[in-house]
Amino acid sequence: MTSNPNPQSVTDTTARFAYLISQISTSLINASPDEAAEHIEKALAVLGHDDDKDRCYVFLFSDDYAQMSNTHEWVRSGITAHKEDLQQVPADAMPWFFAHMQEAGRVLVDDVHTLPPEAGGFQTELLREKIQSMMAVGMFLEGRLIGFVGCDLVQRQRNWSDDDVRRMQLIADMIANTVARHRAEEKLQQVQVELRAANERLAQLANEDGLTGLSNRRGLDTAMDSELRRMQRNRQLLTVMMVDIDHFKELNDRHGHMIGDAALRGVAQELCHVLQRSGEVLGRFGGDEFLAICPQLTQQEAEQRAVTLMERVKNVNTATPLTVSIGIYTFIPEPTTTPDEVLRAVDKAVYQAKHDGRNRFFALAASSPTTKR
Ligand code: GH3
Ligand code: MG
Repeated sequence: MTSNPNPQSVTDTTARFAYLISQISTSLINASPDEAAEHIEKALAVLGHDDDKDRCYVFLFSDDYAQMSNTHEWVRSGITAHKEDLQQVPADAMPWFFAHMQEAGRVLVDDVHTLPPEAGGFQTELLREKIQSMMAVGMFLEGRLIGFVGCDLVQRQRNWSDDDVRRMQLIADMIANTVARHRAEEKLQQVQVELRAANERLAQLANEDGLTGLSNRRGLDTAMDSELRRMQRNRQLLTVMMVDIDHFKELNDRHGHMIGDAALRGVAQELCHVLQRSGEVLGRFGGDEFLAICPQLTQQEAEQRAVTLMERVKNVNTATPLTVSIGIYTFIPEPTTTPDEVLRAVDKAVYQAKHDGRNRFFALAASSPTTKR
């Protein structure tokens, strides 16, 4: 430990250090994560200038202590920087240093030439960087060593005092707190992003039919509401189609629920093929009923689509050939038209198709209903 020559110099040194600490802590406390690197490097510069160091730096260990990287560095002008070549330095390149740091939480080298023989790799590195004296003190996060703050003297020697170590430790603690705060903020941000994605997925799931992946009744209700209002505003044509599998109960009873589920998925897939224009909404209305909401689709176009769908459904690979009955309702919504009225009309059209013998569509429009095989 060095002795202080006179009381005046004690006061000067203490006051200067107190000022230095307040400067460093203010800049670190105010730093946002984006500015962290800049502020830590500024703190290192203040530390370096304070009592004539040549290089000040921060290293962080990997979680398993297998390696360390130089994350921040300040060098006096005329001194070579080494940050770039000190990335992912493996523990086995300088085991003495790693072990000492973990055990004692600090490494003090007054003179590189007096290091013990076990410090071989570490000593070689110091000599490569022309360092004669160095000091490194650990940064701890909740009691765990995460890295260290250090300084070098290049081609100069100094016996480090307890005061030197204490000061460096104070600064290491401040930098560790900054790193901890920013890590916590980053984690929080990441959790917020994940939460937002999970919420979006939940909202999507709430509107999705689990078996077919189409919209569920809830999604259809929302779509019906908004399309109806949009078409009312624009006085445009809206076609709603309801597709109901014929004798589906029989298929279930005879071949089992699994085959029934596969049939529902198969019909859903064919619906996607046939009703794929953008803006069209497809959903499973319930049981073996599907609904398509098709803005600006004419009755004639809807009938063509119905014929195509009936053809394709025949090829859905189930135990027995499938057929569907389709109700079509095409209309220009009045300002007073409600979703219930639309659903009643399209339901009536399906009922008519069933009544007329199934495997057919029945189109209901304001003027002339048509039915076709
Ligand atoms: P129709 O020709 O008049 O349409 O007669 P249907 O047998 O197809 O119609 P019904 O309404 O009598 O029966 C529908 C059946 O759909 C009854 C129910 O067991 C079955 N079902 C409803 N939801 C599911 C499901 O998620 N999976 C399976 N496999 N079957 C379902
Ligand atoms: Mg049915």
